[in-house]
Amino acid sequence: MTIIQTANLGFPRIGKRRELKAALESFWSGKADQASLLETAAGLRAQNWLRQKELGIDILPSNDFSLYDHLLDTAFMVGAIPEGHKAAGQSDLDTYFLMARGSGDERSACGHDYGTGVTALEMTKWFNTNYHVLVSELKPSQMFELTHNKPLADYLEAKALGHQTRPVLVGPVTFLSQAKPAIGGFNTLSLLPRLLPVYAEVLRTLRDAGADWVQIDEPVLARAPNGQVALALTEAYAHLAREVPGLNLLLTSYFDAHDANIELAFSLPVAGVHIDLTVRPDLLTRLPTLAGGKVVSLGVIDGRYIWKTDLTAVLDHLEPVVSRLDQVILAPSCSLLHVPIDLAQEEKLAADLKSWLAFAEQKLTELAVLKSALENGRDSVAEALAANAAAIAARKASPRIHNPAVAERVAALTPPMSERQSPFAERILKQRKRLNLPLYPTTTIGSFPQTAEVRAARLQNAKGQLSDADYTVFLKAETEKAIRWQEEIGLDALVHGEFERNDMVQYFAEQLEGYAFTQHGWVQSYGSRYVRPPVIFGDVSRPKPMTVDWAVYAQSLTDKVMKGMLTGPVTMLQWAFVRDDLPRSAVCRQIALAIRDEVLDLEAAGIRIIQIDEAAFREGLPIDPAAWQGYLDWAVECFRIASAGVADETQIHSHMCYSEFNDIIRAIAAMDADVISIETSRSNMELLEAFIDFKYPNEVGPGVYDIHSPRVPETDEMVRLLAKAGQRLKAEQIWVNPDCGLKTRGWAETKPALERLVAAAKAMRATHPVWV
Ligand code: GLN
Ligand code: ZN
Repeated sequence: MTIIQTANLGFPRIGKRRELKAALESFWSGKADQASLLETAAGLRAQNWLRQKELGIDILPSNDFSLYDHLLDTAFMVGAIPEGHKAAGQSDLDTYFLMARGSGDERSACGHDYGTGVTALEMTKWFNTNYHVLVSELKPSQMFELTHNKPLADYLEAKALGHQTRPVLVGPVTFLSQAKPAIGGFNTLSLLPRLLPVYAEVLRTLRDAGADWVQIDEPVLARAPNGQVALALTEAYAHLAREVPGLNLLLTSYFDAHDANIELAFSLPVAGVHIDLTVRPDLLTRLPTLAGGKVVSLGVIDGRYIWKTDLTAVLDHLEPVVSRLDQVILAPSCSLLHVPIDLAQEEKLAADLKSWLAFAEQKLTELAVLKSALENGRDSVAEALAANAAAIAARKASPRIHNPAVAERVAALTPPMSERQSPFAERILKQRKRLNLPLYPTTTIGSFPQTAEVRAARLQNAKGQLSDADYTVFLKAETEKAIRWQEEIGLDALVHGEFERNDMVQYFAEQLEGYAFTQHGWVQSYGSRYVRPPVIFGDVSRPKPMTVDWAVYAQSLTDKVMKGMLTGPVTMLQWAFVRDDLPRSAVCRQIALAIRDEVLDLEAAGIRIIQIDEAAFREGLPIDPAAWQGYLDWAVECFRIASAGVADETQIHSHMCYSEFNDIIRAIAAMDADVISIETSRSNMELLEAFIDFKYPNEVGPGVYDIHSPRVPETDEMVRLLAKAGQRLKAEQIWVNPDCGLKTRGWAETKPALERLVAAAKAMRATHPVWV
């Protein structure tokens, strides 16, 4: 008889009503004290354990909770606290938040820190999710010591509440791999021998306190097999097995799985291994051989998406194999951190759509149903299985998902539709003639400060306290002010300011068919910043123009050229929960066609420059470099479908924030935007290297103003950056613009910064007075 248990690998921390955000923000603003923050946090943990138990989970996680981020918690646990963050007389919690947030107070929409004073740790995406972890910077001299035994504290807290839990740790190899070397060429993995004793100490304290299992997450296993990482894992788990006998480790991998890594995981001296079957269902049949007496934890429910699992299909898959294993744990594929908490809170979703979805709590219920079916036969849960099967079938057949007109358009796509009429070299001449811009033309990335008044008006309008007509009057006035001011300071290509937009994706998603929105579907992006991704549930189409009225209004106010501003198809896809019944590439092509329609309508309305932002282009890259080209091919194609329908004279811009371009410069060139703006100011134009080495032929706007900081740069600094770019790029290739949109800035900084930016461009023109 196989022993079957259900487990969760991690529960969302934020609270059903975003209680953690409220508590953090009142603590940061000084309105609430430390005790009340910690009380809210403890309350959330207690609730989460209880709820998971009620939903039928046998193995509850602890230490999955974090006040900010689990990688930061790990750094804090092992004493990797950078100099300058530990001030005398300051509490540990202050140090923790200083590492998280720096001494400034905000991060931009792109997720960067800012800042004067003590800077926050850098952030990076947690593999290919939209969750950001904090990155420790480690030096060769880095020492580690057990500084904060949070795993033990959380374990004991749960125990006092009557729960035996399985503590979760980020594994030592993943922690070091994720860290950034403080000096070039330093391999952070070389610190492993110093780190392992701290892990051993933590594990011993857990074992001695009564823990029988500990979950150690090593998602480095999702990366392409790597000899150094394999050696590090071998060393790490040999050390821990030797130093901490009598404790069972569950080595956890997720997000992707390579045969060599899975074989390695099962060869290590750990008691159990978790694999993500949602990415590699085929691994299941190999488990009876691979397991070799180890407990296997099967990630059978997608921990990252919000669609209901087809339980019958999972059972058909599992049944023949599970009976051949001694002990099986049923689990989500990864932590449920990446999904919203409870579908039951959604009151406005259409009933059919709602019946197709499962959030964290519903996913745990699915696990309990699967366990019962495997243990006591499908009859024991016949009703639940029938309801599930009905929902799955209804979704497949729903006319709300399938729009034959969209399918036909996608099928009818031809290569010429993603080709501009003429090559860049020819069309740029026509564009220059039509636009008549000076050398080093100045522009901004789109948004202007979303001031308190702008946000208040939007909220009042949403609440019905400000009529649509009055709201429009307000927005038009803001737009006009922004345009007048841009004219006054002498910017060349103007923007309307994006005051009408709440968010660069949601604004468009709300106007497209095939998207739906939740009321409470928040997921953590980083710290107290949560996002509520739109849900792409059906074929995407554009019933009517989305931005044309605003663009036309804005252009009517000025003789200067006004850019039309759109969000690109890849970003629209990347920042949504995407349907799982079509390949992502197919969904992206649908969005691309909708954006194409908008581009052509803008062009027909007389807009001469159209900017299609692809902020999330790079983050769509798969974990495995071997899969990159496949992604880049369709991502580039989608951008081209969206942009290539215009005449030669219409100039297409794109923008990518904080991207690193070396890996993808070929793809960037293949997008064939006439102008691309990128973030380069903080890296001192280093990001531009890729463009220079590649001899990027089109025009580039390397950011010269770091919008993530309230600091206003001097004109000279911007001139220096431009001169640096000018040494290697041709003068006529260079645009002058900030790093990104200005919506998180105030007018107080924006005004002088952009005045100086214009002055910097003029200074450059004085040194390069003629067209080459
Ligand atoms: N046009 C957008 C803005 O300026 C671009 C934002 C972004 O790239 N994140 O706000
Ligand atoms: Zn940006």
